[in-house]
Amino acid sequence: MSTSPQGVAILGSTGSIGTTALRVLQRHTDRFRVRALTAFSNVALLGEQVALVRPSFVGLVRYGAEPRLEWACGTGCLVEAAQREDVSIVINAVVGAAGLDATLAAVRAGKRVALANKETLVMAGPLVRAACREGGGEIIPVDSEHSAILQCLSGRSATDVRRLILTASGGPFRAWSRERVAGATVAEALQHPTWHMGRKISIDSATLANKALEVIEAHFLFGLSYDRIEVVVHPQSVVHSFVEFVDGSVMAQLGFPSMELPVLYALTHPERVADMGVPPFDPIEMSPLTFERVRLDDFPALRLGIAAGRRAGAAPAVFNAANEQAVALFLEGRIAFGDIPRAIAAALDAHGGVDGSTRDALGDADRVARRFVKELFRC
Ligand code: NAD
Ligand code: MG
Repeated sequence: MSTSPQGVAILGSTGSIGTTALRVLQRHTDRFRVRALTAFSNVALLGEQVALVRPSFVGLVRYGAEPRLEWACGTGCLVEAAQREDVSIVINAVVGAAGLDATLAAVRAGKRVALANKETLVMAGPLVRAACREGGGEIIPVDSEHSAILQCLSGRSATDVRRLILTASGGPFRAWSRERVAGATVAEALQHPTWHMGRKISIDSATLANKALEVIEAHFLFGLSYDRIEVVVHPQSVVHSFVEFVDGSVMAQLGFPSMELPVLYALTHPERVADMGVPPFDPIEMSPLTFERVRLDDFPALRLGIAAGRRAGAAPAVFNAANEQAVALFLEGRIAFGDIPRAIAAALDAHGGVDGSTRDALGDADRVARRFVKELFRC
């Protein structure tokens, strides 16, 4: 192991993944030192975290009447934290497109990004890959499916792989009729059967937009064409994904549904360190493990997202932005659950072909798609 602890920044430290990451890091203070924390607006929790780990940098994106003078305030704090010299690993646990510039800045500065913020890769996969080449940084996934694939690959490249099979829990509406799903309430959609997560990703899991984001994420992380990435429903969330190799051998990574292992592994990859965060594996307790075909016709967001991934250019960014905007409107009670895929489809039809070749073009595509969705529902 390295002699001095590695500096870590947690972007989005007050969220579900951010607090999980802080808990994991507190068990490994011999290896890691938290140097930077950023949050959106939760001053109280951020204050507690600062008192606990005493970072050298604290950022707050949205501040009220009494900004703390010793904290960096405003949107720029994410990039500032991501580029710091005393930081070598950036845990990006921000939700949504807001995390993109920090990811780009971190990999350009040669850092490892432990990436939970999958929207970053969906929106700008080619730019993020180019920035990694430019600056020598790397992206290591925190998403459990992609962590599973990385672990199964154990250093093998895409040429050794026939197929990736991502598992999906199916979300709270896996067994619901299409009509019932269309009218689901916010409370029903937030009831995820196997994971406790932030509100946006919980809705994405219910629409299966999350799995579409993950297929695109896998495409950019592992360099496989969309023909070689499949999805299977696995309600128990114990098998975190499969890799089928060219010789027909299939590897899977299994474990209790907890984000602690994927967070820790993203920090230590390719090494493993002793940790007691995940309960011991008991195959009897976990059984039976079942698999089902995904209901593509009843959860149209998945098919729309994969089509946007294949279309490339700005289409994945438009898919992501339309989804983020529609989910926000649904959570505010202004549109129905069934309106989310409807909004995505309409936004892709109207704007999926716009330019997506630069950071600015992607920012424009993101704004246009959000505005389009708001106007669609007169919000
Ligand atoms: P969350 O809502 O609990 O936390 C989101 C964090 O982002 C908060 O700390 C908030 O302060 C910050 N944030 C929100 N808007 C921001 C903005 N405009 N600028 C800066 N910071 C902002 O969400 P979460 O469940 O922790 O998910 C975070 C990311 O991780 C998402 O991309 C999600 O898809 C991904 N992810 C989550 C899980 C999970 O189990 N929760 C699993 C896999 C991947
Ligand atoms: Mg996932």
